[in-house]
Amino acid sequence: MINAEDYYNIHKITQEHKATIVAVSKTKPIEDIQALYNLGQRDFGENYVQELLTKQQQLPKDIRWHFIGHLQSNKVKQLVRFIHLIQSVDSFKLLQEINKQAQKINKPIKCLLQVYIAKEETKFGMNENELAELIQSIQQNPLSHVHIIGFMGMASFTTDKNQVRKEFQQLKKIFDQYKSYQIKNYNLQILSMGMSSDYTIAIEKGSNSIRIGSLLFGERNTSKS
Ligand SMILES: *Cc1c(COP(=O)(O)O)cnc(C)c1O
Repeated sequence: MINAEDYYNIHKITQEHKATIVAVSKTKPIEDIQALYNLGQRDFGENYVQELLTKQQQLPKDIRWHFIGHLQSNKVKQLVRFIHLIQSVDSFKLLQEINKQAQKINKPIKCLLQVYIAKEETKFGMNENELAELIQSIQQNPLSHVHIIGFMGMASFTTDKNQVRKEFQQLKKIFDQYKSYQIKNYNLQILSMGMSSDYTIAIEKGSNSIRIGSLLFGERNTSKS
């Protein structure tokens, strides 16, 4: 079951702010994705490679698939054929592997760099030093088949709205700072931040791409994955 009314409400908000919705469908069945597709949604996000491959085969081919989970280098090869955007790049090594696989099929792959902004230790992504190092690496070793088009981040999982606001503001600041860099195949346009619980704050702080799961598809069963 999907929440069509919430979908229309969120859609309206994003339209007013020139932002886009990525519907996060991890753990959710094909039928729910198809139902949201039938309402016009085309951007979907998944966290697990195998699950994404299975769904991609069965669903309409004009879906734009976003990979938003932790990506292991040995899984990259399976994704590049069809992926629209890899949002969760967190190392230069991973970027090199994406470049290598993308080169093989002669298809440039769009990527976001995942930046760590939360207080918690468990969230994936690079801290500001690691981000600076990665950007230095691409300046020194240009990659022909990856295009860096923005940043992605997740705020702390907390009810403290001020904390969340501070973290999104911090990511926006970093984004603006790195926007001016002149690097080949690097053009920051997408700031992906905001989930079901905090997307209005994210938009207020400058997000132009929100990733919404449970609000659209209902709560996930957390016992698996
Ligand atoms: C699961 C997930 C989401 C969606 O979370 P909801 O709270 O269900 O909206 C967004 N981004 C990432 C990276 C996720 O893993």
